[in-house]
Amino acid sequence: MHRPVFRFAPSPNGFLHLGHAYSALLNARMASEAGGRLLLRIEDTDQTRSRPEFVQAIFEDLAWLGLDWEEPVRIQSQHFADYEANLARLWEMSAIYPCFCSRKTALGHALPTCDPDGQPHYGGFCRALRRSEAERRVTRGDTHGWRLDMERLGDGEARQWGDAMIAKRRVGSSYHIAVVTDDALQGVTLVVRGQDIEPATPLHKLLQRLLALPTPHYLHHQLIRDSAGQKLSKSLDSTSLRQLRAAGTTAEDIRRKLGFA
Ligand code: GLU
Repeated sequence: MHRPVFRFAPSPNGFLHLGHAYSALLNARMASEAGGRLLLRIEDTDQTRSRPEFVQAIFEDLAWLGLDWEEPVRIQSQHFADYEANLARLWEMSAIYPCFCSRKTALGHALPTCDPDGQPHYGGFCRALRRSEAERRVTRGDTHGWRLDMERLGDGEARQWGDAMIAKRRVGSSYHIAVVTDDALQGVTLVVRGQDIEPATPLHKLLQRLLALPTPHYLHHQLIRDSAGQKLSKSLDSTSLRQLRAAGTTAEDIRRKLGFA
């Protein structure tokens, strides 16, 4: 029998908070109940936001919580070639196109509608470039990202994202292409993650379909909120596990508070 494969995949752009603890503990419990495996993946493709000390802190905080994961841990920044290979396949089938617009220019070409993140839909300026011209500019080394060509791809649920950027300028990859590539490469069968990411799932399923990758089962769990009912977030500096620990909270307290006692 194949053992189900779960993963916890944080981005090291801040310290883990209670919301991450919930997600990690839930993955661990489901994996253990199902006789499955639990992988840890570090999603650090955005090197402008990721920091090595946050990677280290992820290992420490999860170990402190009493979690165990398989080694080696996949660190996305060491695998850009895998994401580029999938981007090349998508470009080959004209599912994506290179976009040379800066953020500001893209906004100038924006549609009045917005994607689920509240970002204006891109107006498709670079979609209209001839392929030979686009290829020439890519080869010449013009800075570019890659966008899905939703006009061509039809009208599934992913369309609400418009021509989503799946590889960012200068970063060379993005969360979407990296997460889909890695879930497949690592044989992940059950993706358990927060409801905040649920709107991105149709986009991930579209990429899986295009790349002929298996689609895992998805389960989006509730988000842990602070006492004011706000979603916890690294950027809001929500009470991190380290702060709680420094203030005398034990791992057992956290498990109990989150319903894993
Ligand atoms: N790396 C993402 C985050 O920290 C989660 C990715 C996922 O679970 O699909 O928000």
